[in-house]
Amino acid sequence: MNLVGLHHITMITGDAQENARFYGDVLGLRLVKKTVNFDQPDAYHLYFGDETGAPGSILTWFEFPGAARGRAGIGMIHTLQLGVASEAALDFWQARVGGTRGEGSLRFTDSDGLQLELVVSSLGNPPLAAAHPEIPAEHAITGLEGARAYSVYANVEERVLTHTLGFTYQGAGEYVLEGSERRFNWAYDPAPAARGAQGAGTVHHIAWGSRDEDHLAWQERIASAGGYVSDVRDRDYFQSIYFGEPRGVLFEIATLSPGFAVDEDPAHLGEGLKLPKQHEHLREHLESTLRPVENPRTARVA
Ligand code: ZN
Repeated sequence: MNLVGLHHITMITGDAQENARFYGDVLGLRLVKKTVNFDQPDAYHLYFGDETGAPGSILTWFEFPGAARGRAGIGMIHTLQLGVASEAALDFWQARVGGTRGEGSLRFTDSDGLQLELVVSSLGNPPLAAAHPEIPAEHAITGLEGARAYSVYANVEERVLTHTLGFTYQGAGEYVLEGSERRFNWAYDPAPAARGAQGAGTVHHIAWGSRDEDHLAWQERIASAGGYVSDVRDRDYFQSIYFGEPRGVLFEIATLSPGFAVDEDPAHLGEGLKLPKQHEHLREHLESTLRPVENPRTARVA
């Protein structure tokens, strides 16, 4: 049994409309679902990704309007790495968003201060891109390539990652998940002295993809390795289990099915406010209290 690859990464934003503008209009991802936090339905949950919101391309945000900026610390992810095809794509993005160029990379922050890094894809992942009229297809973001977290014990192999979850240890706190469909770089860096604080611009959790039929076996495997793993939660677009990895990062394992077309026409993903059944009775209240978020793609067509 192996994981499929990365599924999604979830962050916190203080401003959903600005978040949609940055990821939808500037970076050219597709807003594929506008829903609410299932555990706290007065907060938006926005999903961005490629044209279909395929696992491996998905970035999601909980909105807490006006939330103060947080700070990544021990047990928190501090940088997300997004793939592009070439150095020429990095030139294109540098002209579009600015940032700081490194070898094969371009670093910049989003509207909440989250650290992003575009990297020339070297993992051989099939590209997962969205279409945007201002972004030539050859320069589009091709999916997630990696993430880096802070730890106080970077340089020993973490067996929960290697033995339980099937990551390969590369040394120096660096791992590769050789998923059955996609590969992903995962790494720990020494934590800064300042304590972390959850808030706008910080990462909430990272989710790995499981074949539907393997999901319960993953839950069992993590429990028998000594992990405190949650029960299976129905997230409407996938089923999920959650557990803390030993360095403190919240991990999720999510199924591939049913995906985002389960409650919206694939041509109109992310246009309506979709509520899970258990919160549908709150629709009138939520539609009048949530600040409207316009889908950047609908806005362009209009
Ligand atoms: Zn999640």
